Order: sequence, then structure tokens, then C-alpha cells
Amino acid sequence: MNTLEEALHYPWGAQLPAAGGALQLAPGLAWLRMELPFALNHINLWLLRDEMDGRTGWSVIDTCVDSPQSRAQWEQVIASQMQGLPVLRVLATHMHPDHLGLAHWLGERFSAPLWISMSDYLMARLAVQQQDSFGGQATVDFFARHGMDNRQVLKAVLDRKDHYAQLVPKVPSQYRRLQDGQMLSLGGRQWRCISGFGHSPEHMALYCEDPGLAQPLLISGDMVLPRISTNISLYETEPDGNPLQLFLDSLEKFLPLPENTLVLPSHGRPFVGLHERIKQLRDHHQERLEEVMQACRQRAQCAADIVPVMFRRELDLHQTTFALGESMAHLNLLWHTGALRREADAHGVLRFSAA
Ligand SMILES: [Zn+2]
Repeated sequence: MNTLEEALHYPWGAQLPAAGGALQLAPGLAWLRMELPFALNHINLWLLRDEMDGRTGWSVIDTCVDSPQSRAQWEQVIASQMQGLPVLRVLATHMHPDHLGLAHWLGERFSAPLWISMSDYLMARLAVQQQDSFGGQATVDFFARHGMDNRQVLKAVLDRKDHYAQLVPKVPSQYRRLQDGQMLSLGGRQWRCISGFGHSPEHMALYCEDPGLAQPLLISGDMVLPRISTNISLYETEPDGNPLQLFLDSLEKFLPLPENTLVLPSHGRPFVGLHERIKQLRDHHQERLEEVMQACRQRAQCAADIVPVMFRRELDLHQTTFALGESMAHLNLLWHTGALRREADAHGVLRFSAA
């Protein structure tokens, strides 16, 4: 554990749900942990005992990527943890593959509708179609404009055009819309949707302070994670966007929640210490912004120049693309505040310098 993690409290210690098993966190609420084939090697999913339209069963929150391994993990959970009861609905915190991948499979198997925000639903429908405007060459051009000239990386990005569709082969053709502030009745308890921006188009966290619970619960999705910081990237579809500011502003929405809230994150372990973690995340980005600013005071920098400034470790191809996205997000925030100005050089590469 690093020192930042030590400031958080993990009520279940090192205990994790067994593969294909579940760990009960509160009455009617179970924690599932499924393996992912990435550097980020797992995702947490949540199973809520629920009733809908007079039927008893489970609401599932997030689904894992679609792969033979994750389907097999689900088969184990269905056989051993669900008491023969069906999935009544699938809720997705957001559109990313590890969250949405198997929504279509669970949905078809159990006739369970998908609940998700409209922005994430529409973006998922677009991403799954693998159009030229999404990923592939458009991303290559965007990365090149931000100074990425590593041919290996650009080739990998081009080859990764069908990345989303491989992990999310299908998105249900209908959905039910989740909106900020909306109250959902799940298993007889009231849950409030809290929208968040900057990580995905319109992420939904779920908050419950039912008096029957030992402590309030926050299913935080990817918006508040205990160990790693949420990936905040700029994408080619919105090149002048300011996702880092959106993310930092969104974090503010979690501050009014009580200190003793049990946070259920999509990656890492359930923890108490929401306010401390939000402070850590703000500090983290503030430090990165200062480093970027300092580099840009010395000379004009493109986003590719900033990657080794922000990430002082070896990065593989996949991590490099994430790192470039993060660098662009930090540069754009400083450009939006007016601290940096932006100019294209003779090669069309965008360079940022102190204003
Ligand atoms: Zn995500």
C-alpha cells in the first residue's frame, strides 16, 4: 500500500470475492470481481437483490468485457450465487468495454433491459459501428497533430480500430435512460443517480442512504477509485474539449456525501474515506498541472513532449496512448484557463507555451 492508500480505510481488508463467487457487503448487495485481460486486471461488479414488475431477481451493475473468460465467470456466478433467480435489469455506470461488454448477453438471456445515461448509450452505439469518424485513422491524425511521431504507436492505434467492437460486440437496441438526480428503487431501497463528466460522456454513480443500512453506499463506478487515478483523456471527436475540468468539477458533487459513506469502486477495494480520496485526486492533478506549466515556461511543448514529463516510467503501447490522452487533457485545461497559448508549428503540430 502507498501512503495515499493508507489514509483510506478498507473495511474488508485484503479479502476479495473468490473467482466466480461473491462477497456479501450488505443485505441484498454482493461484490463480484472479474478478471480483465489488461494491465488493469480486474473489474468489480455489483449484484443487488431486486424486484421489478412483480418478479424477484437481481439487478446487475456493470458487466465486464465480452470474452469467453468473462462469460465463463458469469456462468459460475449465475449457477452459484443467484439462487436460481433471474437478472431483472442491467445497469451500466458508463459505456467503457469493461462495464458494458456483456450487457447484450445478459439482456438477451434474461430479457433484462439496459439502464444507462443517454450520452453513454449513444456513444456506445457509435463506437460499436467502427465508423471512420471514431478511432482508427481519425485517432492517428489527432495524435500526430499533438506531436506523436512514434510509428509503432501510430500503427498500433490504426490496428486498434475495432478494439471497442471486439470487447463490446453488440449494444442492446433499446435502453432506459438514467439522468442526474433521478431516484431508482432497487431492492426496496432508494438510490440517487449522480452524473459525472470527463471520464466518459455522462457517467452515472449511484448513491443510497437508506436508514436500514449500516452506512450510506456509493457505487462510484470509475469516478472515484482508491488506488489509481481515473483516466481523463482528450478524444479526437472533441479536440478542444476540457475533460479534466469537467472531471474536477464532477468530483465536487460527491463532497456533500457523508464521511462514513462506503465507496464501491469499479477497480480496487471498497473503502471509506471519500473526502480524503477526492482531496488526493485534486492534489494529484494540481501537481501534474504545475509540472506541465513549468515545462511550457521553458519552451513550447506539444502533448507528446509532455508524456515523459507527467509519466516518468516505461510505458507500453497501450499505456502510451492513455498517457498521451492525459497529457492533452492537462494541456487543454491550462489552455482554457488562459495560462497557456496554443499555436501550430510549421509541421501542423500543436505547441503550447506560457501565455
Ligand atoms: Zn471507464
